Amino acid sequence: MSTSSLITGPKDPVPVGRCDCCGQEIYPDDLVHVIDGFTVCPECFFDFAFDYFSRDLVPGSALKEENHGDTDTTGG
Ligand SMILES: [Zn+2]
Repeated sequence: MSTSSLITGPKDPVPVGRCDCCGQEIYPDDLVHVIDGFTVCPECFFDFAFDYFSRDLVPGSALKEENHGDTDTTGG
């Protein structure tokens, strides 16, 4: 009697990387953001973006300095 090994079934996908923020595994079918070499999953994107652009974060009072010398116009 001859036996043949026939193993079929859904094969577990191999993770291709990990999110640099939360460390969750990234699979080939997943969509991720790659920003400056950082791999960021969609769930971490907002927190990452907020921190990434934190250097551009300024108080509202800072806008007044850039908004000088403008004449006020009235429309009618
Ligand atoms: Zn993440």
